[in-house]
Amino acid sequence: MATTTSASAHDQAAALDREDPLAAFRSRFVLPAGMRYFDGNSLGALAKGVAERVARVVTHEWGEGLIGSWTSAGWLELPRRVAARLAPFLGVAAEEVGVADGTSVNLFKLLGAALAARPGRTRVLALEGNFPTDVYVTRAAAEQRGAAVETFAAADLAAAVDERTAVVTLSHVDYRTGEVFDLAALAAAAHRHGALLLVDVSHSVGAMPLLLEEWQVDLAVGCGYKFLGGGPGAPAFLFVRRVLHESLRSPLPGWLGHANPFAFADEYEPAPGVDRFLCGTPPILSLSALDAALAAWEGIDLRAVRSWAASLGDYFIALVDAHLAPAGVLVASPRDAVRRGAQVSLRHPRAQELIATLAARGIVGDFRPPDLLRFGLHALYVRHADVAALVEALAELHATSAEPRR
Ligand SMILES: *Cc1c(COP(=O)(O)O)cnc(C)c1O
Repeated sequence: MATTTSASAHDQAAALDREDPLAAFRSRFVLPAGMRYFDGNSLGALAKGVAERVARVVTHEWGEGLIGSWTSAGWLELPRRVAARLAPFLGVAAEEVGVADGTSVNLFKLLGAALAARPGRTRVLALEGNFPTDVYVTRAAAEQRGAAVETFAAADLAAAVDERTAVVTLSHVDYRTGEVFDLAALAAAAHRHGALLLVDVSHSVGAMPLLLEEWQVDLAVGCGYKFLGGGPGAPAFLFVRRVLHESLRSPLPGWLGHANPFAFADEYEPAPGVDRFLCGTPPILSLSALDAALAAWEGIDLRAVRSWAASLGDYFIALVDAHLAPAGVLVASPRDAVRRGAQVSLRHPRAQELIATLAARGIVGDFRPPDLLRFGLHALYVRHADVAALVEALAELHATSAEPRR
């Protein structure tokens, strides 16, 4: 096999990288020297300022302020402040966003609420191939309300949805292939029959502009630790369209979702608006990390993020076609950048071994069974030169391992 990235390919990558409209923002992240990081879609890199913020919260707010910090340091308002930072990522109003718990838990809360709001409807339609935790949670939430889960293919929703359908649920971006689904079309199909659309945006938030309001999505959940970079296990968020606020009730009615938590009343009364979906005490340390991570996005245009990731993906796919396809490495992601999130997945029978070998060389992607090599293209820290180096390493590995073994 020819050497993949010749001098001219390196020049080409460098030329493309000189046009990077986001280059100035790279310095806002801590990236280990010598590492090429293609897993920002799974665990976003550490933004500068996060460590200092967490240290300050621990040392001063907790260590010195102690319990008074719930009010003096604004801890009680922190979920609301973070929700306000998240709203522009989702294309919705701050009052429609709640920050709490994890994605799995938020999904359970919104599914339970949606099913209860559609009494008499006994079907939940879930996109085939949803993320496993979403599959388990959807089944459990449906079962608890006497509903059944059926799967649908994205192209067939219009035919699958009917008057018995309470909720349609899917991930905006397929975690395996990176395929992006058309939420406006799916919302229209669901609404035609009075069903609600609940979307998991874990793999699209921070990767592209989301317009949940404009697309008429009813409900959404998503992760704080993927593209957004909130840190391992960062709090998740949920979105509830304003018109639904008063008709939905959380199936996990904790005290912080109460209209007046500090009255310590025996009777639960839901807080007005989306805050009723908060449950227990907010995790202030991880919420502070998420808040500081989101601050690092200040001034960044998500349209530029989207087009830079598209350019990286197009370039990656062209190199794979030219240099790796003959070795049996196939592109598993949509070729059309409009239909592809900020990731490119490849298929190869020895995917797991290849990912491990790349990692040993400081090139970090991930493996998803049975045969996927998955590479996140985080626009704020991946460059064309990284993609060229990745393809070169893969070609080299393939050339080496293709030699007869004794
Ligand atoms: C990452 C991810 C999750 C993770 O859920 P947690 O509760 O944070 O573990 C859930 N759903 C989707 C679609 C994801 O991509």
